[in-house]
Amino acid sequence: MPKFKKILHPEKFNLILYYTLTSFVIIVILSFVIGKVFARLESQELVKRSEKYAHNFITHINYELYKDFLIPTLKKSGKIDLENNRRQLRKLDNTVKENLYGLNIKKLYLYDLEGNIIYSTLSEHIGFAINRGENKKLDSAINGIPASALRLSGTVDSKGAYVPETLLESYYPFYEMDAEGTKKAQVGVLEIYQDMSALKKQIAKAHQKATLMTGSAMGGLFIALYLIVLKASRIIDARTRQLTEARNTLEQNVEERTLEIREAYKKLQHTQRRLVQSEKLASIGTLATGLAHEINNPLASVAGCAEGLNERLISILNRPGKYTEKEELEIFSEYLKIISNETYRCKSIISNLLNFSRQSEPHFERIDINSIIKNTIDSLQYHQPENKAKQKIQVNLSEMPCEIIGDPQQIKQVFINLITNSFHATEAGGEIIIATLQKETTVQILFRDTGVGIKPEYLNRIFDPFFTTKPTEKGTGIGLSICYGIVDMHNGRIDVFSEGEGRGAVFEITFPLAGKQDNAERTG
Ligand code: ADP
Repeated sequence: MPKFKKILHPEKFNLILYYTLTSFVIIVILSFVIGKVFARLESQELVKRSEKYAHNFITHINYELYKDFLIPTLKKSGKIDLENNRRQLRKLDNTVKENLYGLNIKKLYLYDLEGNIIYSTLSEHIGFAINRGENKKLDSAINGIPASALRLSGTVDSKGAYVPETLLESYYPFYEMDAEGTKKAQVGVLEIYQDMSALKKQIAKAHQKATLMTGSAMGGLFIALYLIVLKASRIIDARTRQLTEARNTLEQNVEERTLEIREAYKKLQHTQRRLVQSEKLASIGTLATGLAHEINNPLASVAGCAEGLNERLISILNRPGKYTEKEELEIFSEYLKIISNETYRCKSIISNLLNFSRQSEPHFERIDINSIIKNTIDSLQYHQPENKAKQKIQVNLSEMPCEIIGDPQQIKQVFINLITNSFHATEAGGEIIIATLQKETTVQILFRDTGVGIKPEYLNRIFDPFFTTKPTEKGTGIGLSICYGIVDMHNGRIDVFSEGEGRGAVFEITFPLAGKQDNAERTG
């Protein structure tokens, strides 16, 4: 069975071989069956012909017996007595044998209507009686209906005798007749045994003939179909070869395309790196321009004040007596105050930038946003206890742990900046709400305040470095840009919403939930 399965495997399948084998089996079976059918038909035909022959013969011998035996004997002796009159029996025997001579008839029996054998070509059978019901064919003929039975060689006949050669037993009604041969009443039954030994040969011949004819017809068909199948098989082979070649070419093409894509991807990565690099350069440029602008003003003031002070000092020193007026000293104090303020402003800008640059190497770990928020609020209230009195802070932290992968210091820096901005924007009595939310794949943090709000035209700009609406001594415009950078580095996003001036502001930060994003991807 496994071998058979193996042969049926598409790659092993041989169309021609299968066609030949199945055709051969079908031809053999069909030839045999058709031969059998033909032999049977032939046999039926032969039996029919023999029955017809028996009918003609019996009609003939019926007449002959009347003409040559019964009528003359009755005329001469007045009655028929075959049992006791040997001469009558001999005459009848001679008449029968004369008529049988040269014919294919082996035996003849004459029965009366009781089933008694009144004459037989086998004299020893004369006088035997066959009871009604013992022989159905005889009964049928006694009732006026001819009947016959084929006895095959090797079986027994109606008398129980062995049949060496196939024969046909035919029973016909025997009639009384006048001199013209017209049938009158039935007086008995005539039975003849026809030799059918030729039948066997004829049947065998018919079988042979039919087998031969079917075989040759099927053979012809086989050859015609074989040529078609052969052609089809060649076409299939050619197509298979083409398909295999196409598949190989396709594989090669796929490989080539993959290489090309890989190459293109490398180029893309290279270009992306260059873009990032140029973007970095651009932001450094923007930062430098902003920084220069921010620091230039205070430095110019410092320089102006210093120069003014120097000129005034020289004029005082060159003055005879070197006295100094009180107003002059007040101007000195004013200038020095300006110098001090502007210098502090520069210091603040620089230290903010330094803070940021020091933290630029992040240390990622699994952190809980809720605890960082608590910690931030504690430290802010510790450093700025006066805030406690002015604004109300409401904290709604998620009950689910809001864990992200991040640098705790940098995240704290973001929260400090946002909360400090809200403090600055909110008047005494205002409210600051901080909430966290754990979503399916993200953590969300909201900073909402009821402060001054943001003008719609500023919403797009507030994350730009050095964008500030605060007076020079209070704002540097660096806080939110630092927040943006940190959130971005954590693969998060920061958004701002405000319905306008005086209507408060909302800052919303979204981070990927720890475990939902590959850490390496983030650090990379
Ligand atoms: P700075 O606070 O030094 O001005 P930031 O970058 O932190 O710098 O803020 C930039 C600007 O964004 C602020 O000047 C302010 O106009 C606006 N801003 C930030 N936070 C708020 C807030 N909570 N409400 C209203 N405006 C805000």
